[in-house]
Amino acid sequence: RMEVGKLHTGCEEFDELMGGGIETQSITEMYGEFGSGKTQIAHQLAVNTQLPKEMGGLDGSVIIIDTENTFRPERIEQMVAGLSQKFEQDFDPAEFLKNIHVARAYNSNHQILLVDAAMEMANKLKNTDKPVRLVIVDSLTAHFRAEYVGRGTLADRQQKLNKHLHDLQRFGDLNNASVIVTNQVMSKPDAFFGDPTRPIGGHILGHTATFRLYIRKSKGDKRIVKLVDSPCLPDGEAVACITTDGLCD
Ligand code: ADP
Ligand code: MG
Repeated sequence: RMEVGKLHTGCEEFDELMGGGIETQSITEMYGEFGSGKTQIAHQLAVNTQLPKEMGGLDGSVIIIDTENTFRPERIEQMVAGLSQKFEQDFDPAEFLKNIHVARAYNSNHQILLVDAAMEMANKLKNTDKPVRLVIVDSLTAHFRAEYVGRGTLADRQQKLNKHLHDLQRFGDLNNASVIVTNQVMSKPDAFFGDPTRPIGGHILGHTATFRLYIRKSKGDKRIVKLVDSPCLPDGEAVACITTDGLCD
């Protein structure tokens, strides 16, 4: 087993909440309402992963499985500009974009298959100077939610999601990579899915995701990140800001 890496988020409180950063060889689930900032944080982590370890990165490249077409290259460029300011260095946005491999997933089966494609890509990059150190699935649950509607299909959905998460965990283990998945929850109790603070995927996701983060909007550009039910860290909250430059204290 390789030594677990810790990916810095750009927000010190957030890193501390996570025991020093987002761990490799683990799945970290971010759940929250639409607009809470899950995709923004994912973009920031896709940038930070590429930084050298001294700067809180993992010196690696990134794979994004984009299911809602929310990946924005321009946002990456803004965040790289933010890092250039922060570290007083001239980072090249094009270089960062080159190391983010984005695949659109058109349905849940396609999404599952893309983990195999990700594994192939990771094998190709394994002995380069930028091995894959982060895989993002944004959103993990949107396709599943849209496709599996009605009571009779719930067990099937959970089984598929469970397999998908198992594949992702394996990806993280074999590549010493972090795995980030997002999961949208409803603001109001949902007749079908119930408690809004219980994300869909329910307890199956709960057992598989090693770290679960509940993200919610606060005043202005502030976001509250709450660590929920961690097996190895105390529950707690951190305040992070989402600005044009990216995630910060
Ligand atoms: P989610 O994925 O949880 O639905 P997003 O990550 O897409 O939510 O968050 C969208 C929010 O992020 C916007 O409402 C805005 O507050 C913030 N945001 C997006 N782009 C920028 C930007 N360039 N500068 C500052 N804040 C931004
Ligand atoms: Mg999103």
